[in-house]
Amino acid sequence: MNHRKYQEWISAYFDGELTPEQKTELEQHLQECPECRSEFEEVQRFESLMAKVSLPQPSKEVWTMYWTSVYNRLERKIGWLLLSLGSIILLFFGAYNLVEELIKDPHLPLLVKIGILSFLGGVVVLLVSFLRERLFLRKRERYKEVEQ
Ligand SMILES: [Zn+2]
Repeated sequence: MNHRKYQEWISAYFDGELTPEQKTELEQHLQECPECRSEFEEVQRFESLMAKVSLPQPSKEVWTMYWTSVYNRLERKIGWLLLSLGSIILLFFGAYNLVEELIKDPHLPLLVKIGILSFLGGVVVLLVSFLRERLFLRKRERYKEVEQ
């Protein structure tokens, strides 16, 4: 049997240079001949390794997807920021009006006034702390993006 011919065909096989008849003949021979089969498997391993090493450049679609996802994340962050900011403004405004009315109201017991004021103070402090945490997380996320 002509093993040299088949071993030459093996590299041609991976280069896609064999005719369908040659391919069939080679495959048949590989089933019968362990020596050529191991040669074939070695070339196959090498070829798949090379395919992994020389990965194709990211296509245009991949880049588009990447930028779309960056834009989406940015959009969500801005949404969160506006939401937090808006709720703080509304809360301060509402609290201010409430406090003004509370102080003017002579019928409300002092203890209730103090209770409501401290409740509102607590809400404001928690909200500010929440917002600070969100801003902090945003910064950390940005660092993560740089690291990637
Ligand atoms: Zn052989």
